[in-house]
Amino acid sequence: MIRIYNTLSKKKEDFIPLEEGKVRMYVCGPTVYNFIHIGNARPMIVFDTVRRYMEHKGYEVNFVSNFTDVDDKIIKKANEEGVSAEEISRRYIEECKKDMEGMNIMPATTHPLATQEIDGMIDMISSLIEKGYAYAVNGTVYFRTRRFESYGKLSHKNLDDLQAGNRSLLVSGEDEKEDPLDFVLWKPKKEGEPYWVSPWGEGRPGWHIECSVMSRKYLGEQIDIHGGGEDLVFPHHENEIAQSEACSGKTFARYWMHNAFLNIDNRKMSKSLGNFFTVREISEKYDLQILRFFMLNAHYRSPLNFSAELMEASKNALERIQTAVDSLKYSAEHALAEDLTEAETELLKGAEKFETDFDASMDDDFNTADAIAAVFDLVKYANTHTGGDSSRAFARALCGRIQNLCDILGIITEKKEELLDAEVEGLIEERQAARKARDFARADEIRNLLLEKGIVLEDTREGVKWKRA
Ligand code: AMP
Ligand code: ZN
Repeated sequence: MIRIYNTLSKKKEDFIPLEEGKVRMYVCGPTVYNFIHIGNARPMIVFDTVRRYMEHKGYEVNFVSNFTDVDDKIIKKANEEGVSAEEISRRYIEECKKDMEGMNIMPATTHPLATQEIDGMIDMISSLIEKGYAYAVNGTVYFRTRRFESYGKLSHKNLDDLQAGNRSLLVSGEDEKEDPLDFVLWKPKKEGEPYWVSPWGEGRPGWHIECSVMSRKYLGEQIDIHGGGEDLVFPHHENEIAQSEACSGKTFARYWMHNAFLNIDNRKMSKSLGNFFTVREISEKYDLQILRFFMLNAHYRSPLNFSAELMEASKNALERIQTAVDSLKYSAEHALAEDLTEAETELLKGAEKFETDFDASMDDDFNTADAIAAVFDLVKYANTHTGGDSSRAFARALCGRIQNLCDILGIITEKKEELLDAEVEGLIEERQAARKARDFARADEIRNLLLEKGIVLEDTREGVKWKRA
């Protein structure tokens, strides 16, 4: 039985899906105005692993994750570059997908775009108005927060405390609201911004309504799991609950999961603090498998501090698994004996324990750190019990088991053959130096080496350019 820590109850609960054998899961995706940073990558890796584990357990998972492609930050970036907001979001969705692929994150069943779902948003806002949960003033539509009685149940906040904390809003020109706690569902357009026509005038949706609508459209009124980073608990997820439940009269999501932050120097990594690395930057120095492995070495609800030392440690640890797999593969092809001996059959039975440990760790609120420890136990067992006289079948079986466990975590056990960007650039520099020193033999050697790895060089007037063939 899988147990999940539910932010709603602050307890681990048995996971019982709405529909037997199926999981409906929604994860809030990134706002696409730049390359994603490795903090944004944490929920992607965490929830992809949750999905993979659910699939391993035999569930059919409908996994929906949006791209927020209309937002102040996107508009600002578009204005800075003098291009349309659509061009910015399209560009960074493409880049995000490349990063996801590098981290071995499976594409969602559906990746809806907020801008393609405006009709559904207008529809939901209209029904909230009809039901008395929302009202329009001068082209803005607000949600009537106090009408929704259980507001605050996810973040465990009390409305009166919120009101006290929100007093500043009363003087910030938002006096058209009935109550400072009310939040925006639709806002009127400003000059130079993208807009859509609505019953309340030209404008665009608020951020919270997007997820309520996309989740309902692709997964139905009720879902099993809703996920995101812990900064989304309040107000974003609290508001999603208010909108969705006010509209349907039903419980929206049964299990709310939140990952803790990826920190740097013990502060949240974020674009606004400027203390971030993009996934792309990391990919120049490391195979992104190492980043994934690093993230999964911590429990998703524990804060994780990013450092070069920890990345190096992850690199070495992952290499230990890859080396074991390589050598088992070699034995599986080259060993003299073909069939399992009786002793090997017994040893394979003995190794089942590691798979049981792995599943027990994952069942316990997706404890990937302990699950990885079980993989290492299996690797050690394989290293200890295989040798020159092992059979091919034995090596094949152990190799398959290690690979299966790694696959559930989304970890690829093959060593990456490709050169990293930083390695390519290092070699190009070396080639330039060789040419300068008139060592043309070495320069050609480097060119050929790069060619073998699929890197094509082009000597231009501005210097050497390179691309992957
Ligand atoms: P945003 O693009 O800021 O809406 O963030 C997209 C997702 O990344 C959300 O689920 C955030 O909670 C999550 N996120 C942002 N920064 C971090 C961080 N430093 N650590 C973990 N998750 C983060
Ligand atoms: Zn959301």
